[in-house]
Amino acid sequence: MYSALQEEAIQRAGRKGAPTPQAAPAPPAGRPRRFARSSCACGGGCPNCREESRPPGPRQARDGEAATASDAAEPLAEPAAAPSFRDCSERITGITDANERLETARQRAREYVGAARRALGAAPAAGTTYETALGRHFITPSAADRATIEDNYRRILGTLVPANYICNSQNICEGEQAFWIEADDLVHVCRPFWELSPTCRAIILIHEGAHDVGIGVAGAHPPNRGSAQYPTGDTAAPAGQTTAGRMDNPDAYAFFGAHIWRDTDTGRPCF
Ligand SMILES: [Zn+2]
Ligand SMILES: [Zn+2]
Repeated sequence: MYSALQEEAIQRAGRKGAPTPQAAPAPPAGRPRRFARSSCACGGGCPNCREESRPPGPRQARDGEAATASDAAEPLAEPAAAPSFRDCSERITGITDANERLETARQRAREYVGAARRALGAAPAAGTTYETALGRHFITPSAADRATIEDNYRRILGTLVPANYICNSQNICEGEQAFWIEADDLVHVCRPFWELSPTCRAIILIHEGAHDVGIGVAGAHPPNRGSAQYPTGDTAAPAGQTTAGRMDNPDAYAFFGAHIWRDTDTGRPCF
C-alpha cells in the first residue's frame, strides 16, 4: 500500500505523549514496523505501563466494565456463535473466551463506525453531542472534510471482519494491545487487549483498522488520545491541532465513533 515501508520500517510506533515528529530509536534490524498504540518508549511492558493500564479512581467507575447507560443498551442480545478467529486459542491468548471477547469488540466497533457515519451526513446542530464530538476529535471539518471522514469510516468498516485478525502470544507481542503490519495485512491481537474495557477494545479495533486503510502510517505516529496534543476529558483541542492532522489520526476515528455511539466521551485514554 505504501512502498517506502521497507526503508522507513522498523521503528516502533504509537508512543503516547511524546512530541511529534520525534527521532526513532535504533530498531532491531529487519523488524517490520508495527502500527500499534503504546503508552511509552518501553513498548508497554515496564512496571509504570502496567500500572497505567489499570487507572484507579472515578474514571474506572465511569467507564469500566460496569456499564454506563449506553453500554447497558448494547444491542448484542443472543449473538450468534462467535467465529473462530485465527490462533485465538487459550494457549495463545491465556483466556478461554478470546473468540467471544474479540467478536463482541468487533461488533461494537462496527456499531461505533455506523453511528459515526450516520452522524457525519449532516452539519452539527448547536448544543448537540455531535457538535462537541466533531470539535473535540476533528477540530473544524468542512462539509467536504466530513464527507472524506465518512468515506474513511466506510473503508475502516471493511477491516472489521473476522478474517482480518490473528491472536498472538507474548513471544510475538512486545507489550502492544494490538498492532497492524503490512507484511500480512492483519491486525494482531495481544494479551493486554483482553484486559481493556469493552469500550476500549472497540476503540482499539477501529484504531488498528484505520492503520489498515492507510491512516497514520506515514512518518511519526500521530498523537494518541491521552497525549498533550489530544487530551482526554472535557477539554477543548489544544492550539495547533488541525482537522487535516486529526483526519490522519487513528484515535480520532476511534474516539469520535465511541463518543457518538455512547452519547458521551470516554474519560479513558485506553492504555
Ligand atoms: Zn497506531
Ligand atoms: Zn513503559
